Amino acid sequence: MQLRYSFRVYPSAGQCRSLAKAFGCARVVFNDALRVREDARAAGLAFVTAGELSKRLTAAKKTPERAWLAEVSSVILQQSLRDLDTAYRNFFDSLKGKRPKMGPPRFKSKRDTRQAVRFTANAGWKITAGGKLCLPKVGDLVVKWSRTLPSTPTTVTVIKDSAGRYFASFVIETGPEEVLPPVTPEVGIDLGLGHFAVLSDGRKMDSPRFLRRAEKHLKKAQRTLSRKDKGSNNRDKARVKVARAHARVADTRREFHHQLSTKLIRENQAVAVEDLAVKGLARTRLAKSVHDAGWSQFVTMLEYKASRYGRTVVRIGRFEPTSQVCSACGVQDGPKPLHVRTWTCKECETVLDRDINAAVNIARAAGLAVPACGARVRPGLVPAQREETGTHPKPHSTTVRQTGIALL
Ligand SMILES: [Zn+2]
Repeated sequence: MQLRYSFRVYPSAGQCRSLAKAFGCARVVFNDALRVREDARAAGLAFVTAGELSKRLTAAKKTPERAWLAEVSSVILQQSLRDLDTAYRNFFDSLKGKRPKMGPPRFKSKRDTRQAVRFTANAGWKITAGGKLCLPKVGDLVVKWSRTLPSTPTTVTVIKDSAGRYFASFVIETGPEEVLPPVTPEVGIDLGLGHFAVLSDGRKMDSPRFLRRAEKHLKKAQRTLSRKDKGSNNRDKARVKVARAHARVADTRREFHHQLSTKLIRENQAVAVEDLAVKGLARTRLAKSVHDAGWSQFVTMLEYKASRYGRTVVRIGRFEPTSQVCSACGVQDGPKPLHVRTWTCKECETVLDRDINAAVNIARAAGLAVPACGARVRPGLVPAQREETGTHPKPHSTTVRQTGIALL
């Protein structure tokens, strides 16, 4: 399967200028090509082919208005045309109902928050013996290699994000040699309201303290921004601070999701989760927006790691009354208000933890074999340990640390 590995890069001032030129050229080529196609459409002419666009690009480089396009690697300009083709294909497929609805390709702006260029093998980019990233017409960039690449990539995308940071993103092909030996445990996961995730074996996973701290910092930065006068220099400064705090929260959350998903996939042969679309029905708009973005990123990670390491992830697609059914005897006990955290089954008199009971039911609905005892509330039940929540319990933890900014 294909995976994306991203690393922070630190270009020098001169390299930043070269990259800015590359982003600009790629954007102009994209916009020029889009205009050609849109003009043809408006005039009732046939769809302009990719080959024709490529010919026009070569011709444009010979004109004085576009001569500066020759100052950057020609590969990134060709890749820009490919991106436009992909955008059109996705749009046409969405019209045919093959994929979710989306709009036609749009013109790119200098002010877009994310700028990117792609170098393929043809561009002649390489990783130098000294571990630098050598890009044509840019130079040797310093890279922070936060993990090792499992194989040699053919393509690198250089990205500048809204916080002004640069990343190199590689596509890596992974092989069947990564499949892990089978294990017996299977687990169901409930998206908790109070906790990030609750497992059918009784463990409750909180978001780690470092993530909560980053979120608090972001809220503060946002409050400061809202107090600044529009159009003032201080407002600009505050806006950059908010963008940085946003980026930090996103990175920290992604790292937590990486750690927890790797742990769950290693420990369990099969993992069951509730589909978000279904889960969303039961919640308010507010809780949804905050929680769901994170949850879907987490589930995506579980799924690709499962296929990478030979495990199974099952999504429960239909609506299951997971919090109403007693996992011990199967009796449906009716809906319960949200503040009810534990309840006693009327039929078998088992005292059940709401969230764990739901996680057990999710696992069962997925056809997994999990014991019901996890949901039973025992007197003096010990709450989940901090170590189990995916934080850094010790400075040198043995968990696989997926640092780097995986864009998955
Ligand atoms: Zn019961």
